[in-house]
Order: sequence, then C-alpha cells, then structure tokens
Amino acid sequence: MKIPEGLVYLDNNATTACFPEVVEAMAPYWSAAFGNAESAHFAGRTARRAVEAARATVAGALDADPGQIFFTSGATEGNNWIFQAFADSKPAARRVAVSAIEHKSVLNAAKRLEAFGFEVSFLPVTRDGVVDLAAAREAIRPGTGLVSVQLANNETGVVQPVRELAALAHEAGAFFHCDAVQALGKMPFSLANLGVDSAAFSAHKIHGPKGAGFLFLRAGANRFPFPMPLAGGGQERGVRPGTHNVPGIVGLAKAMELLPESSALARMKAMRDEFEKAILAAIPDCRINGAEAERLPNTTNLVIPGSPSELMLANMPLLCISSGSACNSGVMEGSFVLRQMGLSAEEAASSLRVSGSILTSSEELMRAVSMIVTTSQHIRSMAI
Ligand code: PMP
Repeated sequence: MKIPEGLVYLDNNATTACFPEVVEAMAPYWSAAFGNAESAHFAGRTARRAVEAARATVAGALDADPGQIFFTSGATEGNNWIFQAFADSKPAARRVAVSAIEHKSVLNAAKRLEAFGFEVSFLPVTRDGVVDLAAAREAIRPGTGLVSVQLANNETGVVQPVRELAALAHEAGAFFHCDAVQALGKMPFSLANLGVDSAAFSAHKIHGPKGAGFLFLRAGANRFPFPMPLAGGGQERGVRPGTHNVPGIVGLAKAMELLPESSALARMKAMRDEFEKAILAAIPDCRINGAEAERLPNTTNLVIPGSPSELMLANMPLLCISSGSACNSGVMEGSFVLRQMGLSAEEAASSLRVSGSILTSSEELMRAVSMIVTTSQHIRSMAI
C-alpha cells in the first residue's frame, strides 16, 4: 500500500489513526494470548484478566464504576441496543424524543420505533445547531419513556445541553440515553455527573481500533430497567453476549489511557482557531456553522458559497476532509444536520467538515487552508 506524498488527513470525526501504543498493546492478544475470556483454563484466564483490567481503565477514565461498563462493537450497536431494549420492555409511556441532528444510528433507530407505533418527537435545533430547550420542554412531558440526545454533533462539533435535557427527561419519568462518541477525548466530562442513564462510545474515534466500543449503563446489568435485547452465552453479564473481542478491548483501554489532557485540548483549539482565522481572511464570505455555540476543539464546519462541496473534494485529492458526515458521503444532497440548522439546500451542499486530532500539526492545517482557498477560487472563477 502506498500513501500519496503530501496527503493531509483532517477527517478525524469519521475515524482516527490507531496510536502505535494501541497497536502494540493489542498485538499479543491476536496470537500468544488468544484465549477465550470465558474459558476456565490458563489461556482463558489470561484473556479474562486483560478484559477486566480494560474495564477498570475505561471506568476510571470517565469517573464510572467498572460494573457500569459493557464492551460492544461500537456506538451503532450501543445506540441500537438502548432503543431495542426500551421497545422490548413494552412500555406504557410510548413517547420518544431524539434531537433532529442525531447520528443515523439513533435517528433510524427512533424511526424504527415510530414504525412500531411509538410517537417520536424530533427535537429542533437553533441556527447554531444547539437543541432548542424551549421546544424540548414542550416535547418531553409525562408519557415520554425514552429521550436520546448526543453530547456533541459529529458534523459541526456543537456541544449539546445534555445535563439540562437529562433533567427534563427525568422530571417526565423518562430514561435518558446519550450518544457520547464525538465528545470522548475532545472535552472533559464525568459519567458520574452528566446525569445520563446510558451512553454509547466507540474506540475508533479516539485513536483506538475499529469494531470496539462500550456502553455505559448507570444501573449496571442487574438493576437495568429494560430486558436485555440480545440472547446468547451471557458474556458481559448478559448485556452483550458473544465472544469478547479481546484485542479490540485491550486497544480501546490503551486509547482511553492516552486521552488528551486539557492542555493538549487547549492547543488543539488554538490551532483550530488559527485555521478558521486564515480561511475567513482569505474567503471573507465563508461562514463557520455553529460559530456562536460551544464546540469541540477539533471541528470546523464551514460554508463556502458558490463552491459545491462535492466539486471541492474532487479537486483536492490530497486533502482528506468530508462534506457532511462520512456516513452520508456519496449522496449529493446537503447534510440534514445543516438543513436542520436552517441552511438552504445550496448552502448545505457547499459545506465542508474539517476535523483534526491530537496528531494534527498546524503546518497540516495551513496546507489545508491553502488547498481549500485555491480550489474554491478556481471553482468560483469557472462559475458563469
Ligand atoms: N454516533 C456518532 C455521533 C458518530 O459520529 C458515529 C460514527 N460516525 C457513530 C455514532 C457510530 O459509531 P460506530 O462507528 O462505532 O458504530
């Protein structure tokens, strides 16, 4: 495999490179320590010890109890798990509320419940991409059984008022789930304090391996209020039966150990701000989506009027960024998240998402500025 020289990767909200330490930590669990974590013999006990050490690391990093952490294949699974468990409980409270800008793994799980006769509210967001609390207060009322809102948006990086929304849900007697994938490693938070009943996470967004993640259940396995949706051999205390992905779990825990400190996050934000300043100086009519809201320190989502993002991407082969979310790429229409924020179809289809990581250098960001500015000038100059 040959990586083109000069390639700049700024699509870390889609996925990140594994840290070398993560790859190294995982290595023995593919071969020498390959045991099944459920087996009683030496090989099994070795694997089991690694899984339990990983659980303690993950819990410790987020101020949770190891008994509240359940390993999964990632956040799509974790999000779906909650919706399925809720539906299986045949609740009397059949109203569900999710934000209108959730990841498809929440949005489509909610739409599935709608097809099963649940009444689903899609909570609107403000122009800056923050869930509208007044509208949420209207929608989240007694009779609501489940509320799910992300901690930070994958396209704009806008941070959501999860603590307030969880309080509203609890006042109404509802269960509150949070897709916290994008927030992990980009803003400090404590699962003990966030007020959520459950949260889904994924390793590949934090320089860990793909196909590994975890679900936080505040109540643990025994006091969890809904039935377990998966049938199987009882692994992960019945929450997630199936043979443990031991290398993935070990890699996830190593990535959690290496989560950036607040000083590194501040450096990331300073570099991102420089990037935005440089783009705005060169393209004065460009706009940053969610500019007035609290945002993750690594994410910029911008509209460059008159520069359709698909054309931009096609003309910048050395720049890995995305138009809308990666899961929607290939679809020509503008991102639904930006449409929900009130952007026109044309504005949404002229937006780019640039997402750095702790491995991003300011030199790479400045090369991205130069590619974006030159390409947009070129595209605009060809417009009639
Ligand atoms: N939620 C959000 C906000 C995401 O950005 C993603 C990844 N695109 C997911 C859920 C799905 O995570 P996974 O890839 O682990 O299934």
